[in-house]
Amino acid sequence: MTSLGDLHLHSTISDGRLKPADLVDLAYKNGVRVMALTDHDIVDGLPAAFEAAEKYDDLTLIPGIEMSTDVPGNEVHILGHFIDWQSEDFRAKLAHLQDSRLGRARRMVERLAELGKPIEWERVQSFAEGAVGRPHIALALIEAGHVESVNEAFDQYLSRTGPAYVERERLEPEEVVATILGVGGLATLAHPRELHAAGSLDVLLERLRAAGLTGMETYYQDYDAGEVEMFRQICERNELLPLGGSDFHGMGGPKQREPGNIPLPIEPVNDLFRLAEERGAVERALLRHTYR
Ligand code: AMP
Ligand code: ZN
Ligand code: FE
Ligand code: FE
Repeated sequence: MTSLGDLHLHSTISDGRLKPADLVDLAYKNGVRVMALTDHDIVDGLPAAFEAAEKYDDLTLIPGIEMSTDVPGNEVHILGHFIDWQSEDFRAKLAHLQDSRLGRARRMVERLAELGKPIEWERVQSFAEGAVGRPHIALALIEAGHVESVNEAFDQYLSRTGPAYVERERLEPEEVVATILGVGGLATLAHPRELHAAGSLDVLLERLRAAGLTGMETYYQDYDAGEVEMFRQICERNELLPLGGSDFHGMGGPKQREPGNIPLPIEPVNDLFRLAEERGAVERALLRHTYR
């Protein structure tokens, strides 16, 4: 199965393992024709992604981002599509988030040393070309022989309830939606499964709709047909676009899906383009796709 659209993809500029240009090539090879690069809290991969996308005359690339926010007990990730990623104010805000990611990762490395699982900070940094994240710490843990896989690193040390976990700087979800709207983008709630399981999705959606949320991921990674249908109905009730993506990182693991390996229909993608057009944002994409 390959969908034409994949609106959620990571590169080495955050915690993906493919360089932006290689990610573009792989997505295209897989049959993806409308893609978004959505690195965590960073846009520095976009120039190389646009350059790589130029060489295909039927590939559309949307400038995107995935921003991390927190609610008590859970993380909330929000995707921004069609953002004005060159905005100076926006980039200053992202630079601040990079700094706070660095400080937090250093504290996690200290915790690991206290736990008897020392890793060199330089090794963590060697895996991170841009925004440093827990997966880079996981790779250093594997290299040092403390764990065998990224999943094991999360299960034993790095997950929210793990002994080496350190909180990130807290951002409210509304604040992040406002930031994305502030640079002319459209905001989509990412991977809602955990929020739904925690019983906090309904309240959050009410808050985020008021803040200007456009969509919610529905066709996501390993979500099965029953989950897709459930989230599609939640979107319908809340007048949100049911969007999605593979969230491909190239890290392997049982949940990983290749770029485009999700059942995302083209209709909600086209709806997203029409909304972007209404807001004068559609030109920010490298646009080869006919959505009307
Ligand atoms: P951070 O941005 O530093 O908070 O790290 C979060 C990222 O780690 C997520 O975006 C995922 O890519 C990855 N991640 C979270 N949980 C797991 C897990 N259990 N196994 C592998 N990767 C994970
Ligand atoms: Zn990630
Ligand atoms: Fe995410
Ligand atoms: Fe992601």
